[in-house]
Parts: sequence; structure tokens; C-alpha cells
Amino acid sequence: MSWNIAPECTSTVVLCIIWIYSRKGNPSPSLKNRLFQGCFFVTFCAMTSNILSTLLLYQLTPATLVPAWLVTSFYFIATPLMGMIYYFYVLTYIYDEEKTVIKRFLITSVPGFAYMIMVLLNPFTKSLFAISLGTGYTKGHGIAATYVVFYLYCLACAFAVLIRRRAVQSSIRTILFVFPFIAAGIIIVQMIFPDIILSGSAATSALLLIYLFLQNKQISIDYLTGIPNRQEFLKTLELKLNNRSDTPFTIIVLSLKNFKVVNDTYGQLNGDAFLVAVSDYLKKNVSLGKGNLYRYSGDQFALLLDQPSDENIKKKVVQIQERMTQLWQAGPLTSVLQGVLGIVRYPQSAEQTAGLINGIEYAVSLAKKNHEGVCYCDAEILEQVTRRIQIASILEERFAQDQFEMYYQPIYQVETGGFPVAEALMRMNNTPLGNLSPGEFIPVAEECGLIIDVTYKVLDRVCKQILALERAGIEVDGIGVNYSSLQFTQRDLIAKTRAIIEQNAVPFSKIKFEITESTLAENEEAVAAFIYEMQALGCRIGLDDFGTGFSNLTSVMRLSLDTIKLDKSLVWSSLQHERSEKIVRSMTRAFNQLGMTVLAEGVETTEQSQFVEECGCKYIQGFLYARPMPAADYLAFLKEKALETNKI
Ligand code: C2E
Ligand code: CA
Ligand code: CA
Repeated sequence: MSWNIAPECTSTVVLCIIWIYSRKGNPSPSLKNRLFQGCFFVTFCAMTSNILSTLLLYQLTPATLVPAWLVTSFYFIATPLMGMIYYFYVLTYIYDEEKTVIKRFLITSVPGFAYMIMVLLNPFTKSLFAISLGTGYTKGHGIAATYVVFYLYCLACAFAVLIRRRAVQSSIRTILFVFPFIAAGIIIVQMIFPDIILSGSAATSALLLIYLFLQNKQISIDYLTGIPNRQEFLKTLELKLNNRSDTPFTIIVLSLKNFKVVNDTYGQLNGDAFLVAVSDYLKKNVSLGKGNLYRYSGDQFALLLDQPSDENIKKKVVQIQERMTQLWQAGPLTSVLQGVLGIVRYPQSAEQTAGLINGIEYAVSLAKKNHEGVCYCDAEILEQVTRRIQIASILEERFAQDQFEMYYQPIYQVETGGFPVAEALMRMNNTPLGNLSPGEFIPVAEECGLIIDVTYKVLDRVCKQILALERAGIEVDGIGVNYSSLQFTQRDLIAKTRAIIEQNAVPFSKIKFEITESTLAENEEAVAAFIYEMQALGCRIGLDDFGTGFSNLTSVMRLSLDTIKLDKSLVWSSLQHERSEKIVRSMTRAFNQLGMTVLAEGVETTEQSQFVEECGCKYIQGFLYARPMPAADYLAFLKEKALETNKI
């Protein structure tokens, strides 16, 4: 019999190329990676022994008889071993704990080992093959066992993926499911054309497929730091959760605060070098046990720790925090990097991927705000996360259907005793979570960006309210609309704002924009441009929340603001602390001298009212005079006040 070994030789070369390429850049020594290398090794052995055995069988002499027996036996062992090791590798994808993988493998390796014993006994039983000088190579009646064992493992791969399909991402699932069929398909062709040796081609195709789609480091490794990337992190997380095992784990995320400043100061390339320094530190100095380190996002690293004790977590947190107080080196440059830590635990913090990710994001955002720079996502925080998610979904639904209410709080004018202006305040009543206060839902709307479009809707409602009042015979001087910081990130802000007022044919002078101190501090240029353009059209601009501590007085002075609204906290503390009282007095005087009108917010008592009046505040907003009220009540309120004035 003659065999064509050309495909096998070509496949060996291709296999070697992929093998060498797959070893570039030191893959991490995980069981999965070691087994993948094992697949190459076994396949290589099977293919070379196949070629060698074929060559030896062609030139059978007394001297080559024993080597031919040995090499052919070796080939017979290696072939089903390929199936076995592929199966072993597949298990690492669908079970995340090494222990489980090994246990499952040992249970299912019985047919493989039984077959190997058959090969070892073959010189005596000749059940698989025989080689003699006279007849050359002859098949034994049990040769089918070789294929059966190989197919069995291919089938086991497909079956294992099928029963654990929920544990694996769909893209990986497809590959793991398809590759045994490709291999098995080629072997079937081999059975049809027995003189062309194709088993190596089958194995190489399968390995190429795995390499391209699953083991290619470009997919899973972060190119800058050489550690696994976010996708790999999510994949691992999903696998852990889908295992339905109760093994606890902890995620510590180190987030570099203000890393943008580092990039701006030292340039992107040096910024990259600092990131590598941090990643190297974490990799080399923070012991991860069986866990791993991931680049979670541009300036965030995640440590995934298996079953750490509380004490262990604390130790790591302190270790990283201490390191963050020291300088970092990038080439000749040194810099301080600020880092905060968010910690999420499974199963205490959340039981689903989405919950854990939300927990991480929220813990990091809180850590950025708190003094310690650390936030453990505990039950209380988790409740907040859940509530915020619920609020976000309520807002999305309500805003989409315009189902939010506008309240108006009339503002008292000291000089006339009337209420010529008001502030528009949003309300979200009767939600599944009850009445939500703007103090709670506005920050959520800002975080998810919903506030931008809603603000335009608010402005439109306010314009329509002014027209409705006009139709009822009531003329107001103006209504204030709150513009959040996010609004000033919009390029078309001025054009859109202008268009809404124009479409409603409301005089520009009747609209007043309230911009907080913090908004001003965050977007000075955009705010200045907005103020300039809108004032030119006739709108008025009020500085909101003055005294909450964000103001850069120079920028407040530089802008031509129409009114300054003293924050309620400042008003309240004026009657309690002499220092605040002095500040309010002198500030109000200074603003008045600069031609700005001062408005006092949060006036609840007559003492407060007398005090702010005495200081020179021209307008007073507070529960003492009027609470925020629905549009209909606002109209009734103004009508009543008008009657009172007429009576006088
Ligand atoms: P703000 O702009 O400082 O609005 C004034 C807040 O002070 C209102 O709270 C008002 O009800 C409250 N207030 C007025 N007088 C008194 C008083 O005498 N005593 C007390 N305790 N409170 C008084 P509200 O309506 O709960 O709104 C809270 C915040 O939510 C607002 O603070 C504003 O920052 C935001 N907000 C409300 N509506 C909107 C909106 O349509 N757009 C935006 N961007 N933010 C809004
Ligand atoms: Ca306001
Ligand atoms: Ca305020």
C-alpha cells in the first residue's frame, strides 16, 4: 500500500509556524494556556510520528523493523491523545476552577487510558496493527478503536459545550462547538481516501481556528501593559458567575484620578509609561494568588482575587494606598499619581455581572469623592446602586413620554411686595418609588445624560407657561430655568435654546437662566459664551447656589450676571454665625454696587426675611412666601395676589 504524506508534511510546517507564533510574548502560565501548548505538542508528536512511521514502513528492513514498530505504536498513542488533550482544553473554557477541570478530565479519561493499554499490548495481541518483513504493515481487527476513541473525545467536546452553553460567551461557544466537527469531518474524508494522510491537516485546522479566535493574545491582552484586557476580565467574570459555584471572589479596582492631567502635562507617550509602571507594580508586588490582574479601562486596573479573607483584602488595599503616596517613575520623569480604590465582593455585593460592574463603577465614583479614597461596595451602597438604576429607568420612561411635572415657585419682590418672577422646578411624582425629589433624580438624570434633552423640554414648558399666564391676563417679568453643567458640553446649546424661545414667540427678556457656581467653575468658557450671546438677545442670567464654595470670585466678577442667588445654606447660617452674617452683608453690598441684583433663597422665617432685606436683597425666594406649586396653583396664586394688590 502506498500513502501520500505530502499534506501531512505541509501541515507540520504550518503547525510549527502557528506554534512558534503562539509562544511569542510569554503567555501567562494558566492551565488553559499550558494545555493549548500541550495541544501543539501532542499534535506535533502525532504528525511527525505519522510521517516517520510511513517512511520507515516504505523501507522495511530487519534494521528498521523495531523502530517502525515503536514509531507506529507511538503514532497510535498520539492520535487519540490529541482528542483527549483538546477535550481537556475545552474543559478549561467551560469550568473556571482548575480543580473541577482536572476532576472532570480524570473521570472522562478512562476510554483514552484503556486504549493506550491496548496499544501497549498490541505487539502481543496485534489487535491494532502488525508489521512484518514479509507482509509489511497490516491492520488489526480492532483498529477502529483508534478512530472511535478520537471521535469519542470530539463528541465529548461538543457535548460538554452544549450542556454548559450558558457558561460560555456565544462567540467562544461557536468556536468550541465547531472545531471538533471540523476535525472529525476531515478524518471522515481520510476514511474515504485512506491513502492520503489527513489527520494532521485536521488537527492543524482545529488549532488554527482556536488560535485565531480564542488564544490570539491580541484579543485578550492589553497591548500597552501586556496584562489581560477588559474583555478578558468580563469573560472570566461571566465564567465564574455561570459556574453557579459559591466560591467567593473579590474585585479591587484601582482608578487613577485625574489621569488626564498627567497625559496633558507629560504627553500621551509618557502617560502610557506611567500606566505601565503602575501595572508592573501591581503585577509584581501585589500577590494575586490564583487571581489575576486586568486593565479594566484606560486608567483603571482590576485585581480579581479568589477567596480572599477580609484581612487579606484590607492588607492589599493598604499596600496599594501606601504605594500611591509615593512617586512613580516613567523614564527620566517622576510624578505623583492619585489613585482611588473601589471594592466589590461576590456574592455579598452582587450576584450578576451587570450588578458587579455597576457596583464597581459606583464604588469607584464614591471613592473619588470621599476622603479616604476607598469605597467598599457594601449592602447600603448596593441599595443606592439599585435605587439609582431604578430611578434611571423611571426617568428614561417618563422623560420619553414627557411625563414629568413642572412646579413654579413664586419669588417675592421686596420693593413692590409682588411676585413678578418665579423659578421653574421639575417634579417626578407618583412613580413606583413614590414621589422622587429633584435632589435625588436630577443627579441621576445628569449622570445618564438625560438632563440635556429634558432641559430643552423644560424650557419649552416654561415658554408655554408664560404664554398661558399672558392669556389669563397675567404678565410676569420672567421665569427662571435651571441649566446643568452637562448642558454646556453641547455645541448647539445657544442655537437650540434660542430656537425654542423663538418658536414659542416669547420675549427673550422673560427667560432667565440659572447657572450654578460649580457649573461656572467646570465650563467657564462655554458658560461665558452662553451668557454673552443670550444676554445680547435680552435673556437674563442668574448665578445659583452662591456661597456653596465653588466660586472663583474673579470669574463671578468678570461675568456680567444679572442676579446672584445666595444659597439657602448661607442664608440659614447667617442667623446662627456672625461670620456668615458679615459675609452676607458685605457680599450683598458689593454685588449691589456692581449693579447686580441679589436674591436670597430658602427664607423660611420672618427673621431671615428681615435680615436679608436689611442686607439689601431685592428678591426673596422661600417657603415663607410661597412653596413650589403646580402650574394651575401658580396661576391661582398670581391671580389672588393681583386681586390683593388691586384692593389696596
Ligand atoms: P435649586 O436650583 O437651588 O432650587 C431651589 C431649591 O430650593 C428648590 O428645591 C426649592 O424647592 C428649594 N427651596 C426654595 N425655598 C426654600 C425654603 O424656604 N426652604 C427650603 N428648605 N427649600 C427651599 P427643589 O425643587 O427640591 O430642587 C432641588 C434642586 O434640583 C434645585 O436646586 C436644582 O438644582 C435641581 N432642579 C430642580 N428642577 C430642575 C430642573 O428643571 N433642571 C435642573 N437642571 N435642575 C433642577
Ligand atoms: Ca435654581
Ligand atoms: Ca440654590
